[in-house]
Amino acid sequence: MHPQFQIGINGNKYLKSKGVDNVKDYTIPFKGLRLGEHPFEWELNKKFFENADYSEILDCDLLINLILDKKERMMELYFRINGRISVQCDRCLGPLELPVDITEDYFVKIGAEREEESEEVLVIPESDYEIDVAPLIFDYVLLSVPIKKVHKHKSDCDQEMLKKLEELKGGQSTDPRWDALKNIKL
Ligand SMILES: [Zn+2]
Repeated sequence: MHPQFQIGINGNKYLKSKGVDNVKDYTIPFKGLRLGEHPFEWELNKKFFENADYSEILDCDLLINLILDKKERMMELYFRINGRISVQCDRCLGPLELPVDITEDYFVKIGAEREEESEEVLVIPESDYEIDVAPLIFDYVLLSVPIKKVHKHKSDCDQEMLKKLEELKGGQSTDPRWDALKNIKL
C-alpha cells in the first residue's frame, strides 16, 4: 500500500511518536463548517519535518493551499503545495534545492466505520468531527522527492567535497576530518 495511507488521516499519534508535535495546527474541525468551499493556508518550514526520523527534508519553504469542499456526507480536499525543499545531493552530499509544485485531491466520506477505501478515499464514522491533514501534507511532500537526487550539473556540486570523496574512494585520505565520511555508503 501507498505509505501515505499506512499513516492515515488521523495520524497525529503516529507523527507525535516521530517527534512532530505541531500537528494540531493542521487539524480542521469540519463539523462546525457550513456546506461549501473553505480555503486554508499554511506556511511550512523545516520544523514540520526536522524531528521525523526518516525525513529527507533538510529545509523547506512551502505554501500549502487547501480547499475543503464540504458536502452532504462527504468532503473533497484539494491540495496545492508550492515552494522549495532542500535535500542532500547523492553525489556531493551538499544541499540540493528542488522546486515543489504538488496538486493532490483527497475525498472523505461519512460511512459506518473508518476505512481507507482507496489511496484517495477515506471513510470516517458519523461521530468524527475534525480532520488532521498533517499526515497528508507530510506524505505528499516526501513522495515528491525524486529517487535520484543530484545537482543537475556536476559543476553545481560542492567541488571540494567531490575531490575529498574521490580521494576517499582511492583510499588516499590523509585528512582525519574526512575519515568519518568513510562510513557513509556512497
Ligand atoms: Zn551535488
